[in-house]
Amino acid sequence: MNALLRRGVARVGIPCVWRGKRFSSRDEAAESNRGTPMLRHLTYKIKSTGPITVAEYMKEVLTNPAKGYYVHHDMLGEKGDFITSPEISQIFGELLGIWFISEWMASGKSPAFQLVELGPGRGTLTGDILRVFSQLGSVLKACDISIHLVEVSQKLSEIQALTLTEEKLPLERDAESLVYMKGVTKSGLPVSWYRDLKDVPKGCSFYLAHEFFDALPVHKFQKTSQGWREVLVDIDPQVPDKLRFVLAPCATPAEAFIRHDEGRDHVEVCPDAGIIIQDLSERIALTGGAALIADYGHDGTKADTFRGFRGHQLHDVLIAPGTADLTADVDFSYLRRMAQGKVASLGPVEQRTFLKNMGIDVRLQVLLDKADEPSAKQQLLQGYDMLMNPQKMGERFNFFALLPHQRLHDASQERNACQSKTPASPVAGFDELVWQ
Ligand code: SAH
Repeated sequence: MNALLRRGVARVGIPCVWRGKRFSSRDEAAESNRGTPMLRHLTYKIKSTGPITVAEYMKEVLTNPAKGYYVHHDMLGEKGDFITSPEISQIFGELLGIWFISEWMASGKSPAFQLVELGPGRGTLTGDILRVFSQLGSVLKACDISIHLVEVSQKLSEIQALTLTEEKLPLERDAESLVYMKGVTKSGLPVSWYRDLKDVPKGCSFYLAHEFFDALPVHKFQKTSQGWREVLVDIDPQVPDKLRFVLAPCATPAEAFIRHDEGRDHVEVCPDAGIIIQDLSERIALTGGAALIADYGHDGTKADTFRGFRGHQLHDVLIAPGTADLTADVDFSYLRRMAQGKVASLGPVEQRTFLKNMGIDVRLQVLLDKADEPSAKQQLLQGYDMLMNPQKMGERFNFFALLPHQRLHDASQERNACQSKTPASPVAGFDELVWQ
């Protein structure tokens, strides 16, 4: 097994496939449709109330509190269903840590900030960011930092706590509370868990969402001779316990999310993503900070991207629901529209450009020089290749940011056009990193 050297300890391996890539599908129709508890739940629901939208299907399958795929699984890593960048190389999280410090400095070094991660997985990314915060402690020493994790999964929140918190200090738990868990990180910062972004206190915050938006439910629409018709999930009348897609016989409410000038024949819309972007935009406009969103996606060009993953293979989305990840590409053009001018948006830029601008080559060289074992060097190079290679994650994944308008404007020009003009400092990642 490949083992990456992280913090001097042999760590995760790199499986050969990852979720952002489309594979040619195996013939899974032939695969037996095991009667999962989720399938029984869904067939019961459809029998009682009729076909359901793809968004409702996705939401039930992924986050149903009793049976949802995310709620009780650890799906990440070689033994799971997919692998993500922070699990592949420590460099990824380290560069994001530098991004947050660089933005905190460029936006005026607020005396306190919250680091808020949406969908933190195994807690690896926040862990790597916090290590950078500790290493650059002299820069951040006067700043009061707290960590806020938005996570629906009971299973993953336990793993995050193991990754991030000091074992000797017991966690406070209250399943009924909006803050369902609290603790102290290994570096002594307060950390809290929430199920929903709206429960995170408002205050100067830096937000992070890596492979989070692709897990949010999408509605799917097909253009027909009668106009847009929503794709629904129904029970196949020919085969008991088998699900199939059907088209709604008439217009459905989510059609309101399709643009009047839409040119594609098939579209996916994600109202939940819009709600979260609006909330983030309002928060950032009010209290400052920034949001960094990284995911696979497109800029309003792709059509049918809804797919499933199990054991690092493409999986038919309607087979054995609850045993596979469901995902759809993020439409960054929609995220940009949902920011509605309240904040400025940057990107999407390809992952390889963003990481290059953040100095991935320099960081790789430092780690290579420090690594004693040839196998450790090999792992670092393999991780770099996965993150940066255009055929792997380098082009398929994108970075997108929300920033207060004043961050991108030259404040001195606004105050007095006659003053000497200091250009607003470039935003790292979207431009080359420059320490001010
Ligand atoms: N960011 C991590 C994990 C990505 S997987 C990484 O890159 O490794 C998606 C994460 O989002 C999981 O932690 C999952 O439990 C969480 N999640 C999915 N839907 C969610 C929702 N609606 N609200 C909060 N968390 C959610």
